[in-house]
Amino acid sequence: MSNRTHLGLTSTCKPSRESRWASLPKVDLHRHLDCSIRPQTLRELLLAAGEKVPTDPAAFASKYLVKEPMSDLGAVLRKFQAAQKALSSSAVLTRVTRECIEDAAAEGIRILELRYAPTFIQDGHENLSFEQIHLAIVNGVEACRHLPIAVGLIAIVQRIKPVSVGAAVIDFAIEHRETFVGVDLADNEDGFEPKPFDAMFLMARASGLHVTIHAGEANVASAADNVLTSIHRLSAERIGHGVQIANPEIPRSSAVLSEIVRLGIPLEVCPTSNILTNTFRSISDHSILRLRDAGVLVTINTDDPGVFDFNLSHEYDALADHLGFAHADFVACAEIAARASFIPLSARQLVWPGL
Ligand SMILES: [Zn+2]
Repeated sequence: MSNRTHLGLTSTCKPSRESRWASLPKVDLHRHLDCSIRPQTLRELLLAAGEKVPTDPAAFASKYLVKEPMSDLGAVLRKFQAAQKALSSSAVLTRVTRECIEDAAAEGIRILELRYAPTFIQDGHENLSFEQIHLAIVNGVEACRHLPIAVGLIAIVQRIKPVSVGAAVIDFAIEHRETFVGVDLADNEDGFEPKPFDAMFLMARASGLHVTIHAGEANVASAADNVLTSIHRLSAERIGHGVQIANPEIPRSSAVLSEIVRLGIPLEVCPTSNILTNTFRSISDHSILRLRDAGVLVTINTDDPGVFDFNLSHEYDALADHLGFAHADFVACAEIAARASFIPLSARQLVWPGL
């Protein structure tokens, strides 16, 4: 394993005034609200829930956060259970949403899409209905109306759950399409291909909701095929991650890369997340430059800034320090993301002049 500086995991979140990217307007299209709890809030919530929480910061981080690469995506997903346990009431959900948006606005994010899985939050909190969960989150968004940031919500279907459960989430999202901008299929794609979910995603798209799908994230043989299926059978307009289409060892990756370029499908790239899930050994090995140079529309996103204990500026630092990204590169990626956002154009134009 390389040292932490090489991995781009040099620090925890810095106040935005310390960031060299503070003045750049930013976009984050791929952020899981349910794994974006501030670490200090997570500590407080777990203590309130009666958990034995280590007082030592390193022990706390080791138990609840992901700050070093883990064996694979599945291992990282299992770490998310602590955050899940903390999301136990409407008041907590509203608070976590508000804090997440406040932190994003403070580092210059002007367009923010937050996604969450109602089924993930509900596990262990069966007293919370989808309706209560969503209302609490919408209230958190409303509490940030005064901030210069456009926020959109995306409902996640967990591919590890039965298709019928996913259908219930999609039905819920369609019923609440005034307060959702899109739907997503997430969780470990290893062994859980997108095709069984195609009908429900086509229905969501037909209802006016936008579609993004996690695909091509893990290094599995089906990674490129999953990207193609997501686009052609699930009507995905963007792909979450998709980084494996630049991996020559994945079957049909180069054909899928060409297709992504031809169709102009943006990728929601989350660089450090891919290191923490052991998809790449380091930021220097990440495929984002190869993707961009091949003509793919790449955007830069955080994935799970709470559990990972970082922010979007950290991702800019990592790409600048290890892959030579310059100011103009970040501006270009942010413009792509601003245009690819699912948030209604009128709301985006208020915070992103010239769009
Ligand atoms: Zn994700």
